[in-house]
Amino acid sequence: MFCPHCGSQIADGSAFCPSCGVQLNASAPAAVSEQPAASSSYKDYQTFSIIVSIVSFLCCGGWLGVIFGVLGIVFSSQAKTAFNAGDMVQAESKSKNARLMCILGLVMIGIGAITSVIILALYGASIAAMFSELYALAL
Ligand SMILES: [Zn+2]
Repeated sequence: MFCPHCGSQIADGSAFCPSCGVQLNASAPAAVSEQPAASSSYKDYQTFSIIVSIVSFLCCGGWLGVIFGVLGIVFSSQAKTAFNAGDMVQAESKSKNARLMCILGLVMIGIGAITSVIILALYGASIAAMFSELYALAL
């Protein structure tokens, strides 16, 4: 086993840690290891989803990116409500959904950006020629 206080490896069933001297008993390490697991996996993805929605809307995410971003906002606000109500199971599962939506939104932004670059590389010259023709016509 490992000392819950300093992390040194110690003999199973030791009453004291030989390294730091902390008193050990059977129930304490279990309580220490359960507590962080219950609270650590909830994360607030609200800001992240809002950023994904705005970036998708403004430039290259397309409508799929906007949908994922908005779903991320919905899931993260549900997660926040559940977290504030003390429902950790619900908060965790909703925040996982929100994270998934953010990732999908980012993928859409990536695909959109790559597509834009490819379109510009393939048709950039003809788009530029079209604009210069329009410009010439306007003059
Ligand atoms: Zn120790």
